[in-house]
Amino acid sequence: MSKRAYNFCAGPAALPEAVLLRAQAELLDWHGKGLSVMEMSHRSEEFTSIAEKAEQDLRDLLAIPSSYKVLFMQGGASQQFAQVALNLLPEGGSADYIETGIWSKKAIEEASRYGNINIAASAKGYDWFAVPGQNEWKLSKNAAYVHYVSNETIGGLEFDWIPETGDVPLVVDMSSNILSRPVDISKFGMIYAGAQKNIGPSGLVVGIVREDLLGHARALCPTMLDYKVAADNGSMYNTPPTLAWYLSGLVFEWLKEHGGVEAMGARNEAKKRLLYDFIDASGLYSNPINTANRSWMNVPFRLADERLDKVFLAGAEEHGLLNLKGHRSVGGMRASIYNAVELDAVQALIAYMAHFEKEHG
Ligand code: PMP
Repeated sequence: MSKRAYNFCAGPAALPEAVLLRAQAELLDWHGKGLSVMEMSHRSEEFTSIAEKAEQDLRDLLAIPSSYKVLFMQGGASQQFAQVALNLLPEGGSADYIETGIWSKKAIEEASRYGNINIAASAKGYDWFAVPGQNEWKLSKNAAYVHYVSNETIGGLEFDWIPETGDVPLVVDMSSNILSRPVDISKFGMIYAGAQKNIGPSGLVVGIVREDLLGHARALCPTMLDYKVAADNGSMYNTPPTLAWYLSGLVFEWLKEHGGVEAMGARNEAKKRLLYDFIDASGLYSNPINTANRSWMNVPFRLADERLDKVFLAGAEEHGLLNLKGHRSVGGMRASIYNAVELDAVQALIAYMAHFEKEHG
């Protein structure tokens, strides 16, 4: 038996062990068909059933209304930074963006290539430690859409509310908190999420688009990036990343078996509470984020003396606690505790942190 460590990676992130075991069992011979999913035609009856089931399970999990299309696309969440604009921002048009950290900055930078981008609110005034309340937002009158990032994976800053934008479509990058707890899909015009956190392996980005937003792509929008083309072709205008799609489907099945997003929400709430409470009570570790905006999924923390960082990380690895190093742009530590990271992993992390504090604090 191989030994699996506790993996706190921000992405590609831990996958449920049951999913990996199932994939392993089905690898050589999927459902008695004598071949692996990787070796099937994407147009075969077998793969069509895999693809359709994955979509239906995601629809069930998130209660996605029938007026929304679910798209399985490529290029990661980063490609959506351009794709959103190419599809939803008319020539010469403008859009409102909310700036809460590194990922929203990247989205703003990319969209700025295609139109007038108004930064309607920024967390900069709060040192990136709090989400600016909607009463502070300066939305423009003629925005084609409003874009925000519901969870800043690097900063660990999460919206604990959904913005109200009236008739203006709300577009969200939900890469690092989709499926972590229930969310009202009908509030959004478009949702996108890179798969490699709460969905499945990388190579896939899931889009959930309200139907009335399809068919408005710019003339110069590449065919492959047109949401309507993807929707009209069942996300198979070209060969999709079939293995990633299949594995995501296994994750959706696992989520359903474990009580869906309601149960995940309760589990995740317990996990993050335990970790933040421990950090707040300690003298060595700290997290600066405004309590209400602390991410449930990505918990950055610092040691009081950064010279201890290396020792902390080396010791963590010895204890089978992997990928705790913070993003290269911010330093410090970060524990990503997505759906597949169980409570016992958080408990093991806290035990190690307490032990380390006793020795070095
Ligand atoms: N947005 C957010 C919130 C992310 O966390 C990430 C990846 N960590 C991205 C976008 C970029 O995703 P990708 O690497 O799939 O392009």
